[in-house]
Amino acid sequence: MILTWIKKTVLLMIFSFLLLFASSLFADTRPSHQYKVIIIGAGSAGLAAAQDLYQHGIKDVLIIEARNRIGGRVWTIHPWGAATDLGASWIHRTNNNPIAELAKKHGVETLPTIYSLGNPLNKFSSFDLYDNNGKKISSEEMKSTLKLISKFNADTSQNKLHLKENASFEDAVNIFTQQEHLQGKNLQLFNFIAKDMIESDAGGDMKQISYSTGNSLHSIMSGNDVLPQGGYIRLFSEFAKNMSISLNNPVTAIHYDSQGVTIVTKKGVYHSRYVVVTLPLGVLQAGTVKFLPELPKEKLAAIKHLRMGFFNKIYLFFDKPFWNLDIEWISMMPNQNNPKPHYEALNLYKFVRQPILLFFSAGSFSEETEGWSDKRILDDVMHHLKLIYGDNISTPSAYLITRWGKDPFAHGSYSYPGIGSSIKDYKNLAAPVANKLFFAGEATSSTDPGTVTGAYLSGLSAAELIIQQLYV
Ligand SMILES: Cc1cc2nc3c(=O)[nH]c(=O)nc-3n(C[C@H](O)[C@H](O)[C@H](O)COP(=O)(O)OP(=O)(O)OC[C@H]3O[C@@H](n4cnc5c(N)ncnc54)[C@H](O)[C@@H]3O)c2cc1C
Repeated sequence: MILTWIKKTVLLMIFSFLLLFASSLFADTRPSHQYKVIIIGAGSAGLAAAQDLYQHGIKDVLIIEARNRIGGRVWTIHPWGAATDLGASWIHRTNNNPIAELAKKHGVETLPTIYSLGNPLNKFSSFDLYDNNGKKISSEEMKSTLKLISKFNADTSQNKLHLKENASFEDAVNIFTQQEHLQGKNLQLFNFIAKDMIESDAGGDMKQISYSTGNSLHSIMSGNDVLPQGGYIRLFSEFAKNMSISLNNPVTAIHYDSQGVTIVTKKGVYHSRYVVVTLPLGVLQAGTVKFLPELPKEKLAAIKHLRMGFFNKIYLFFDKPFWNLDIEWISMMPNQNNPKPHYEALNLYKFVRQPILLFFSAGSFSEETEGWSDKRILDDVMHHLKLIYGDNISTPSAYLITRWGKDPFAHGSYSYPGIGSSIKDYKNLAAPVANKLFFAGEATSSTDPGTVTGAYLSGLSAAELIIQQLYV
């Protein structure tokens, strides 16, 4: 019995040894494939970079994306038939804009809006504004305030306010309103419109936005703003079809040296000669992706100086509309004692012929509401609507609420220049590292940060730098 047991054990040992020997003979001893280029992130910047590389014949490219979809902060869904964008909505300033050209190329029709970043005051020509008792602000009051806002814009662009280096937009507004001796309702109205213009564009509070840096950002585009029909993602989905994209694959670490780059993800390890990093500023700030060795100190400083703004959407779908259908915007001034709640609604009926109001919130108020329950947000918005239209308005039959700050792959909506930042921070964020890591994404654009256009152009720039490396 004991002899048989010994025999069996010896045989088993010999067999295991042979198996081990055989497996070592057949094991793949080649290093795993080294891609020419890996792009981290399948948002506007990443897809633009990939497209440019493909067009230059560089096809050994892999895009690694954390989400289960492409687009990043461009995100279209169809919850009630109509395409609904939870991220970007507008193509801002269509002249000289590659995103407007993409729309044309892919046959995506666009709907012009009165609102335009090209001329931010346009918006208020189709804007029903109410005081906090629900009384409409007269067109005379709006006109005289807008005249003052034009003067403010002219004074700021000509640096006439003589502000200190670290001044904020709030400082600029305060100095201007003091110079103009604004008081009472005139002051309240001016502050409201200035805040509305500046904060929704930046996603930060006026007191947190650098006046000098904000003022020195000059878009290369001009003209009006349009909404892509059928959803923003249509601009990208066609050309992304033939790309090699690994979805659901969050990157956790990026190791780089003169030989190349090794990327560690939750699914495995990838090697590449060059890498385009399009991680949002919020992700870089959160430190969830480790860089080894650490990024240069200028880049770390840029990551600190630029800030991630908050800008969220609340879609309310009603059975039938009860608001002025000809107007583009509806808003209400906050209570003097509680100036924070600041929503404004885009009348989507005008564009999609469905009874939908799209509310926006920006800055620290938007950040605060991310911590509220859906019910609390809906009650607050409905409270504002009832003050304007009365208690008998219907309750929404469906709704959607975004919380971009809580999104682990964005950590906010878009970037803005914080106090102490300079244009150099955008350039430092964009600067390549060790000729191996190339950075792109909206926050690396020093002409159009915070936009799809800025992200797209930055992706093209990163790709061009890599093309030079590969072909020179
Ligand atoms: C509510 C809202 C409204 C907006 N409105 C407009 C507008 O009207 N017009 C406009 O021009 N712009 C608008 N923007 C801004 C615009 O959406 C962004 O500037 C642009 O989409 C950013 O593109 P990006 O490629 O730089 O970043 P992203 O689109 O965020 O792409 C980065 C990608 O990296 C991925 N990623 C993150 N972490 C990891 C990881 N660890 N591993 C792998 N992948 C990762 C992300 O999932 C994402 O897909 C809006 C944004 C928001 C949130």
